[in-house]
Amino acid sequence: MRARVSDYINLNVKRKLNLQFSLPYSEPCIFNCPYCVARNHRHGSRFNIDIPKMLAKLESVQDDYHHIIFTGENDPSQHQPLIEKALKRIQFIEQVEVSTRNINFFIDGVLMSYSLSSSADFIKLKSKGYPKYRAVFMAHKGLDFKKLDLSGVYQATFKQLHKTEDSGANTWIRRNKISTRKLVREVNKLIAKYPECSIRIDLTCQNAKGRYKILRSDGFIYDSWETSVPNSLL
Ligand code: SF4
Repeated sequence: MRARVSDYINLNVKRKLNLQFSLPYSEPCIFNCPYCVARNHRHGSRFNIDIPKMLAKLESVQDDYHHIIFTGENDPSQHQPLIEKALKRIQFIEQVEVSTRNINFFIDGVLMSYSLSSSADFIKLKSKGYPKYRAVFMAHKGLDFKKLDLSGVYQATFKQLHKTEDSGANTWIRRNKISTRKLVREVNKLIAKYPECSIRIDLTCQNAKGRYKILRSDGFIYDSWETSVPNSLL
């Protein structure tokens, strides 16, 4: 039976939310993805940086969350020492994911989640021989689905591109976005070919409602990436 879009979307409504640990903005991202949603946020100028408070908060709330994801307004590989410090404060390390564009960056024992925009990037990632990782494909017209050999890959996610606050990125997205129908069709073929790989589509990655909260560099938790008002001052 053919799968529908709703079969792939993980709404997480009955489970605990995920917590996105937003690494502090200190310098621009070393990558320059044309679809970047973070490029124009400049949250670094809106939120204080209080690392001890941030780490203490992470430690105290970790049990309330299903999954902890290291992310930010630049690539997490730009914050390796802080990630290592944070990992020491987390008890259940298997619930941790590190999201990165940097295929040379690997931390053993957590789920590394590599953001990829071409089949060539994916081939390079596979050649690294990492034991377990998630391949996160930015689905756009230039992604050659036929060249994606998902054998041996633990998880693969296909993300649909979304409008950002950056007009340059939006122009690129308008020209390169593929339709949901085409995305489902291509992913269906991959599911049939690689049944051992856990494959999903993410159409709503920017929508925090019912999915995740954000722990920012000031040590407070926020309900979305857009708000500058924490959900509690405790
Ligand atoms: S790696 Fe992430 S933060 Fe950096 S440019 Fe790409 S999408 Fe933006």
